[in-house]
Amino acid sequence: MSLTSIQGAIADSCLKAGRAVDDVTLIAVSKVQPNARVAQILDQGHRCFGENKVQEAAGKWPAFREAYGQIELHLIGPLQTNKARQAMELAQAIHTLDRPKLATTIARLAQEMGQCPDLFIQVNTGEEDQKAGCLPADADTFIKDALAMDLPVRGLMCIPPVDEEPSLHFALLAKIAARNGLKGLSMGMSSDFETAIALGATHVRVGSAIFGDRIYEQ
Ligand SMILES: *Cc1c(COP(=O)(O)O)cnc(C)c1O
Repeated sequence: MSLTSIQGAIADSCLKAGRAVDDVTLIAVSKVQPNARVAQILDQGHRCFGENKVQEAAGKWPAFREAYGQIELHLIGPLQTNKARQAMELAQAIHTLDRPKLATTIARLAQEMGQCPDLFIQVNTGEEDQKAGCLPADADTFIKDALAMDLPVRGLMCIPPVDEEPSLHFALLAKIAARNGLKGLSMGMSSDFETAIALGATHVRVGSAIFGDRIYEQ
């Protein structure tokens, strides 16, 4: 697919759901993609991207920002506390706040730096052992604690289990967000962003459908 066809599909989904098109932000997930492919998307005017790893983002985006100007960067991968400062310097949003220790670290750094990216709390809706995120049962408390630290929590994020119907997970995430007064919902990837938009996604994270398959080097 192409950037324009994804943008068109997002607009269609918004229309069907009775939502405004500018209610949904398209995060083009550029992790692992060659710079030439990323540049093609920048050349088409897109300015909102997602990366999984702080190190990869740090190696890639400063140069693109020099060449293209302001770019909104979203970090969507697991974040170690010792990378938090670099993440906060690089990104406009972090989607993977998932534990108290990371929250206190970000709060301390935000004080020190006088700035903080928008934050999304990751919820492990499928309760999978291998996946990051707070458990649904712990979410209300964690959200309240993070807000009490004055952190700019904008919403919630989830990655549904690969072998389950994603709509159940999107609906659960939307329910937890609503009862905590949070508006942002980071949910939906290449295979399910239309479903996510129908269920209220405000940020969809689309990689391979825009850039093509990721080729991981051995
Ligand atoms: C890689 C990744 C995506 C994009 O996945 P695609 O299936 O390529 O669209 C979205 N969200 C997260 C957290 C990812 O790691």
